Formats: sequence, C-alpha cells, structure tokens
Amino acid sequence: MPPSAAPCKTRRLLDFLFLREYNKTMIIDYQTAALIIVDVQNDFCPAYTSGGKSHPEGSLAVAGGGEVCVPLNAVAERFAGRNGKVIATQDWHPKNHASFASAHPGKKVGDFIDLGSVQSQILWADHCIQGSQGARFHDDLNLDSVNLIIRKGSNPLLDSYSAFFENDRQTTTGLDGYLKAFSISTVFLGGLATDYCVFYTAMDAMRLRYKTYVFTDAVRGVDYPKGSIEQALGAMEGAGVGMIKTSDIPQN
Ligand SMILES: [Zn+2]
Repeated sequence: MPPSAAPCKTRRLLDFLFLREYNKTMIIDYQTAALIIVDVQNDFCPAYTSGGKSHPEGSLAVAGGGEVCVPLNAVAERFAGRNGKVIATQDWHPKNHASFASAHPGKKVGDFIDLGSVQSQILWADHCIQGSQGARFHDDLNLDSVNLIIRKGSNPLLDSYSAFFENDRQTTTGLDGYLKAFSISTVFLGGLATDYCVFYTAMDAMRLRYKTYVFTDAVRGVDYPKGSIEQALGAMEGAGVGMIKTSDIPQN
C-alpha cells in the first residue's frame, strides 16, 4: 500500500496559549487533557431564572454560583470540539446524610463534628438530595459536551468533597481510573465551591500527579470559615496548581 493510502493516525489537536498572568506560553494537547466541572448544581446557586423557569435560592447557595456556567460552557465546547474529555461532578446525598446538621440532634449548620475517620466535618444545611431539584445541574450549564458524570457523597456516613476520593481519602469515585484509561495527564477545573470541592479535587489531582489548572474566573466559594477562599487559592497555588482564566482558552 503506498504511504498516502495508509490509514490516517488521529491528528493531535493542540492549542497554543499565552498566559498573561504568568507571561508565558502553554500548550494544551486535548488528547491528554480533561475539563472537570465541579458541582454546578441548583443547591449551590442563588435564585435564578432560565428559559422562563424560576429557581429558588439553593439551600447552600454560593455567591455568584450560577455565573460559572457561561465561561465553563465555552471551555467545554472547545474541549468537546477537539475530542477532549469533559467530566461533570454532582454532589448526590441520600436523605439524612451524615454531613447534614439535621441528622445530628442539638447541632446546627456550621458546627464541626468528628465523623468516623474524618475529623472536623462541617455540618451543612440539607442539600443535593438524590433526585431533588436542588441536586440537578444549573439549567444554564450545557451538558451536551459532557462525557462522564461522577456522582459523589452517596455513602450516608461519609462526605465527599473531592471528585477523586471521598473524605476518608481512601474510597475512590472511579475518576482516576477513567482518566488513566484515556491516558489523560492534565486536568482543568472550574465550578463550586472554590474552598471545598474544587480545592479538594485540585489537591487530589496534584497528589495523583496530574498537571492541574484552576479557572479562577469560573469558580465561586463558600468563604466559611471566613477567609477560606483566599486560603484555598493560596494553598492550591503553593502546591503547584496553575491559575488561569477561561479567556486564556480560544473559543470555538
Ligand atoms: Zn454535600
């Protein structure tokens, strides 16, 4: 067979970026990169209207939570258009989950308890109950580009902030295996909340030796305890997580 008739190898799809914040260039190879959209769910978002439908404030609303949808949709489209993987995570708790203050008589939202092997578990308002409206993705998040949805926090006795491991730091969600099966070595993160699920996902990604980037314009935080957003961003950057903006990624 002449060389011209040989089957074509999949063309690598690359983007060359210039990161203004760091004054340096960067290459994204979409064959080895994944976008992880963390917990963009109604219960983490303030009240909004989409397609004529009104949604009440989520039980654990993060200021500006819904604002991450538009920039993340644009990045997800770029990934999907270049055959990159897009993963979305969903907090997905049974009723009476142990992270809910309502499950602990005498305790209130914001209190800390020891939960099995997990010390200093914050108690939250009831949120993201399996099948509820609050657990659904924000209506403005376009799921068409998403390859995989990871649901976490289903163990009634254990919370799960990270997209990789539950809070015992041992129980896997399966995400690491999925990424490794596709030889993915770089992950880009956005979503909610900066100081909890995004933070723990980023730190686990570093621990698992992924090159890790956070879109600083496409995350929003709880900021409880006060200052925790700033602390989380500093800790991520200190651990080697790259801070970039969604506008650094070319649009389709
Ligand atoms: Zn939760």
